[in-house]
Amino acid sequence: MVSSDFLEILRCPVCVREPGKEGKLALYKDSWLVCNTCNRKYPIVEDIPVMLIDEGDKWTQIPTDALPVPPPKVG
Ligand SMILES: [Zn+2]
Repeated sequence: MVSSDFLEILRCPVCVREPGKEGKLALYKDSWLVCNTCNRKYPIVEDIPVMLIDEGDKWTQIPTDALPVPPPKVG
């Protein structure tokens, strides 16, 4: 379980670099973090959010409700 305090400070690593973009993340089924701004999706693998841009890119076109739960292992 990822704590809500931690989630509150986590931001999408792509959007956080761009002025004016918030990059807030929404938790989906305790398994994914979905960026509200760019729609990248970051898997949470064994309670660790994988905040890799390449990983987020992979899932941009997949609707949130079609994401695999639990997420596949990264790497
Ligand atoms: Zn983003």
